[in-house]
Amino acid sequence: KTSIGGISADRVAELRDTEGEVFRKARPKSAAKVGNGLPGFFGGVPMHWMKDWPTPFPILVESAKGAGITDIDGNKLDDFCLGDTGSMFGHSPPPVARAIRRQAGRGLTYMLPSEDALAIGPLLQERFGLPFWQIATTATDANRFALRVARAVTGREKILVFNGCYHGSVDETMVRLVDGKPVNRPGLAGEFRDLTRTAKVIEFNDVTALEAALKDRDVACVIAEPVLTNSCMVLADAGYHDALRRLTRAAGTLLLIDETHTISTGPGGYTRKYGLDPDLFVLGKPIAGGVPASVWGMSDDVATRYADYNRTKEPGYSGMGTTLSANPLQFATMRATLEEVMTEENYARMDKLAQRLDVGLSAAIERHRLPWHVARVGARVEFICAPGPLRNGAEAESAHAPELEAAIHVALVNRGVLIAPFHNMMLISPATSAAQVDRLIAAFGAVAAKLAA
Ligand code: PMP
Repeated sequence: KTSIGGISADRVAELRDTEGEVFRKARPKSAAKVGNGLPGFFGGVPMHWMKDWPTPFPILVESAKGAGITDIDGNKLDDFCLGDTGSMFGHSPPPVARAIRRQAGRGLTYMLPSEDALAIGPLLQERFGLPFWQIATTATDANRFALRVARAVTGREKILVFNGCYHGSVDETMVRLVDGKPVNRPGLAGEFRDLTRTAKVIEFNDVTALEAALKDRDVACVIAEPVLTNSCMVLADAGYHDALRRLTRAAGTLLLIDETHTISTGPGGYTRKYGLDPDLFVLGKPIAGGVPASVWGMSDDVATRYADYNRTKEPGYSGMGTTLSANPLQFATMRATLEEVMTEENYARMDKLAQRLDVGLSAAIERHRLPWHVARVGARVEFICAPGPLRNGAEAESAHAPELEAAIHVALVNRGVLIAPFHNMMLISPATSAAQVDRLIAAFGAVAAKLAA
């Protein structure tokens, strides 16, 4: 390729090299400790994606607080990655840290409720509008359990996903369209099953394809993010969510809305802000302020049908777990997050700063005449190194510019800002300051100027 995202491939490679050198020079202690990997770990990292960041070696974190991260060399970064949403409300939000301290001496897991659990059920009902809830530990698991219920109550085997989606490591969602044909998602390890047998996959924003995929009435559930956030950022066309709800209902198919990333929209997620009416609802990542926890909710109708189903089925293992789910540390931190962190006031601040970021990045793109664009869903902002807006997963796939994104990522780190790896995603937390946003805009402008020169 001679040009990547409108930039010559040579210039991209040069930026990556020079910025890589700058990164290393600023981190002599880190280089000594992790430059050749962490001892004792397969691949030199405790989790494989730590190696997939575009920096020459992982940033070795000394501490993180609010919207900042400090590495062991004393480099301070404004953190806009925020653990890819796990810390969307900032690192160690004070109410969550207090809840952890309060619970620390009272037991951490015992398969029994605490008084915090009494508060959480009504909070979830009121916040997200669904009447019945369960707690799990990851969004992956919450999605798996919700899909299990969807299949149980509909008696249908198939699910439907959107091309380019990601709902966690949920096996049955791991399908893609390649040249319009459904296939297993490339890269899966140890997957022998043809996942397209039980998962249909269509493009987002395609009402005709949706109608066709549902017409045989064999789909238990459509699992959807309100905005595709895991392949660039694809917003829903006007009226698309209405069509999705209308067509699923007409086909007897349940609608699962996965709000794990779009909770950036507001305290009740995209669902509340835009009046979606899902049968099943999933939220993980930041729901307990960074402590692993997730929730999944059911409508009255689904809950009634699931209770009926349970009465008729053979007793035995339901396929839902896990042992550490719904533990008292999760209750304490989730309650603190819902009551004191996910407030209207915090969201208003986040939204305002995200808008400032959107405007600032868009202006820099325009100033340097780059063929790029910015997309945003509330506090979640992404610049995409291709023209936009994008309408579906196929367009998002071709908009990706991995080499260019990697070079920009390292260049931004060297200018004091950390954005998400693998795509250009930035989150605003309640702890993020206007000064931090302005530093990111300035850093982005400087890198854009270098690339466009
Ligand atoms: N749903 C969505 C929309 C996600 O983006 C992700 C993770 N990126 C998940 C679910 C899974 O979350 P986890 O890895 O915490 O299980």
